[in-house]
Amino acid sequence: MSASPAERREQLKAVYQAASGCVRCPQLAETRTRVVFGAGDADADLMFVGEAPGRNEDEQGVPFVGAAGKLLDQLLSEIGLDRGDVFIANCLMCRPPGNRDPLPGEISNCQSWLFEKLDLIQPKVVCTLGNHATKLLRADPTPITRIHGQAEVQVIGPRAVRLMPLYHPAAALYTRSLLDTLREDFARIPPLLELAAPDQPAPSEPEPPPPVDPTDDPDSQLGLF
Ligand code: URA
Repeated sequence: MSASPAERREQLKAVYQAASGCVRCPQLAETRTRVVFGAGDADADLMFVGEAPGRNEDEQGVPFVGAAGKLLDQLLSEIGLDRGDVFIANCLMCRPPGNRDPLPGEISNCQSWLFEKLDLIQPKVVCTLGNHATKLLRADPTPITRIHGQAEVQVIGPRAVRLMPLYHPAAALYTRSLLDTLREDFARIPPLLELAAPDQPAPSEPEPPPPVDPTDDPDSQLGLF
């Protein structure tokens, strides 16, 4: 039987507790102030995935609280939403020192935390913000310039979602034409949310137990029946 939203919320809180002490990336664990787990509605239909926390996020423990976050809030309000309606996370939960790009090993260390969030929040639509999140969640190196605004069904870890690649708001802060494009792409989100959720992949079958070698079987060695 599938878990209720209240049960999934409790499970998400347990994942948050576990993630708060993550030391999978020793350098990031050493230099971060806080793990930025993600924030918003634990049962959101719409989830955003950015790159990694910056200085403000690292200090406050909340994603997208700096200038890029203010633009994200603005774009959300233009489509009738606010942060409380969505869940916002990042590829990395820890700030890379000096805001350097995330390393491939760091992204893969953090990936299972992101997949657990997806599995528990169960969004219908996931918007990737920028190249890092887009390449990670599409498992493909196609750059954001070629695919922004084009929704597609993607299986991400345990879930099938409607994935919408978007430019990162930080990129749109200083380039007017990118901001116009990002705004146009945002306008495609509400109709996507109206569509039914995509069919979910069948849960993977548990591995069958390996055949028992009678010479190793403790029951037969002990003469039990
Ligand atoms: N940029 C991101 O990608 N994520 C944040 O949380 C803040 C800025």
